[in-house]
Amino acid sequence: NTPLHELDPDVAAALDAELNRQQSTLEMIASENFAPVAVMEAQGSVLTNKYAEGYPGRRYYGGCEHVDVAEQIAIDRVKELFGAEYANVQPHSGASANQAALFALAQPGDTILGLDLAHGGHLTHGMRLNFSGKQFNVVAYHVDDAGLVDMAEVERLAKEHRPKVIIAGWSAYPRQLDFAEFRRIADEVEAHLWVDMAHFAGLVAAGLHPNPVEYADVVTSTTHKTLGGPRGGIILAKKAFAKKLNSSVFPGFQGGPLEHVIAAKAVSFKVAATEEFKERQQRTVDGARILAERLTAADAREAGVNVLSGGTDVHLILVDLRESELDGQQAEDRLHEVGITVNRNAVPNDPRPPMVTSGLRIGTPALATRGFTAEDFTEVADVIAETLKPAFDAAALKARVTALADKHPLYPGLGK
Ligand code: PLP
Repeated sequence: NTPLHELDPDVAAALDAELNRQQSTLEMIASENFAPVAVMEAQGSVLTNKYAEGYPGRRYYGGCEHVDVAEQIAIDRVKELFGAEYANVQPHSGASANQAALFALAQPGDTILGLDLAHGGHLTHGMRLNFSGKQFNVVAYHVDDAGLVDMAEVERLAKEHRPKVIIAGWSAYPRQLDFAEFRRIADEVEAHLWVDMAHFAGLVAAGLHPNPVEYADVVTSTTHKTLGGPRGGIILAKKAFAKKLNSSVFPGFQGGPLEHVIAAKAVSFKVAATEEFKERQQRTVDGARILAERLTAADAREAGVNVLSGGTDVHLILVDLRESELDGQQAEDRLHEVGITVNRNAVPNDPRPPMVTSGLRIGTPALATRGFTAEDFTEVADVIAETLKPAFDAAALKARVTALADKHPLYPGLGK
């Protein structure tokens, strides 16, 4: 029972440094969040030790009576949270959930229709080097000049290529998708509709975003982005797909489920059903709107900064730097220098290479979890706008970031 700091000081030092980084800087990567201590406690528990191939009540190992309880709680809670007929809480990650879902809905060689990666889609929606792009015939739809998903193109491509699966979902898109329209098009060409709500699941749980479960055959998600739980994936679906999905996850792609993570998912679903969670998601969306307003203001525009689609309905904005002196890499580095973590992101038809880009993706979930209010987000937005101007005072801006971080302590009691 030797504690980590004694057994392995090298790894412990890396963990300590990471805690300090999270506490002292502003985390604005749109796909990140801070899990509650109770979620991390479940994840660091004795369930780490247990093999439990199979599903609750139908395991291939003995001694599963307690992990069965935890997994069944996770299943029941997530079904209730999203109004789903079926749930699988075993996928190790969002990509694992997507792999299992896609192979349950289609055969290798079938045609799938998804949002182009360069226009905001995810790797698993048909990127060339991903399993989805290697094993399926991919047709991609895009956003239009206004930065909105081009539903006329979706319909045209669906009719032309008659895909087996239409994928609605994104990693970098600041607006809500029209699920009813996706459903209509899918029905017209007899395709399955799969929604990947990895990014916006927390907003759905809070009732601040349309619920794709009402429209889609299958819905996948991660549990660690807006939803705020442990790193992992889930699959929700209509009952008709239950058997195929269960066998696609196990034994199709996975062996023993991570029961410690599943227990942590259960805890996070309990949190996601609370009023406090709703209020936090509201601050998340409000914070993103404030960022969009500030970064489309006259002085930001003068510095060549703009926001794709002119604003946001969700937890992130996409900053367009095509007219700025700074490219995506330089802007990311500058913000890092003042203590704000974001990621550079390609804009549609980006003139710069993917490792450089002409954009930034900036998200508010982690800061909202930290307790940031509209007033705090206004200050954050001002700091970002100042940092992206041709001349910037790194030391003064870093001091403003430190003041915000100190105002909202993260994991008080943990670390020094
Ligand atoms: N789906 C979408 C839309 C995502 O944005 C992501 C992650 O960025 C994933 C799936 C994959 O999740 P994971 O990183 O857990 O595999």
